[in-house]
Amino acid sequence: MRTALETTGLGKRYGRTWALRDCTLRLPTGRVAALVGPNGAGKTTLLHLAVGLLRPDAGSVRVLGRTPASDTGLLTQVGFVAQDAPMYPDFTVPDLLRMGQKLNQHWDSELASGRLERLRIPFDRKVGKLSGGQRAQVALALALAKRPELLLLDEPVASLDPLARREFLQALMGAVADDGTTVLLSSHLVADLERVCDYLIVLQESRVQVIGAVDDLLAEHKLLIGPRRSTAPVGVAAVVRDSHTDKQTTLLVRTNGPILDPAWAVRDLSLEELVLAYLAEPSAGVLPGPTPLGMDLRS
Ligand code: ADP
Repeated sequence: MRTALETTGLGKRYGRTWALRDCTLRLPTGRVAALVGPNGAGKTTLLHLAVGLLRPDAGSVRVLGRTPASDTGLLTQVGFVAQDAPMYPDFTVPDLLRMGQKLNQHWDSELASGRLERLRIPFDRKVGKLSGGQRAQVALALALAKRPELLLLDEPVASLDPLARREFLQALMGAVADDGTTVLLSSHLVADLERVCDYLIVLQESRVQVIGAVDDLLAEHKLLIGPRRSTAPVGVAAVVRDSHTDKQTTLLVRTNGPILDPAWAVRDLSLEELVLAYLAEPSAGVLPGPTPLGMDLRS
């Protein structure tokens, strides 16, 4: 399978502070991936390194097998929607479409104008006068008109109301489903991503904390509820989070086999529960580890 984005030991530093550090990840083509993490985790930095707006201070980044910072030709294959969709505010949609046509060899003007007409985006108004949701749709249409192999979106829905967010994500899914475009979409609004993403990358404190296919991650993580205990049952590879009352222990765990101990009730997790548990425990990660039998709990 081809690789859309691959980083090895990737790092970027501002002065003495690492914005991204030791970042090693691989995103296969054809995936719609969520890039999740709290503010300041390094999401924008990673996306800017991927489109060549920044150069690495350590390690390497490859996009579709090429090096972004030294290969401007790559930009024809990569669409990028930056945070808050900044565009020339005095331009109208037709102005932007004309500019796109001039700058891009494989520009699909009809794709962009057709989408924006269907969404009833006014063509006679300057984009600076459009709503946040409308501007986000314009930015997405312009990025899609390049017919990119990889589409990178940096918090495109953060400033939109819930309805506009849903419309935007639906439009995105519809647009990429036909072409098989690979998407990497950053957000700290995890609930929004649950419906649209099949791959997850969690960045925390400038490092990769969790990475994998959503189906695999959801299959191997479980919530266990049982009588108050000091050890986790067989089948648990790692305890991500534990909480206790006088009588009950609740564990959010990564498993490496079935939990057969009848003392524990086993429940599936939503993607949001899984992500929030990891974000609350910066030291936890999905890296493979030893297989403890009857693992000790922290409290
Ligand atoms: P995110 O997109 O996850 O919110 P960023 O990639 O924007 O995170 O930022 C990662 C870290 O790098 C933060 O600590 C941020 O303050 C720092 N940072 C980002 N851009 C700059 C900059 N131009 N100068 C100095 N520090 C920066």
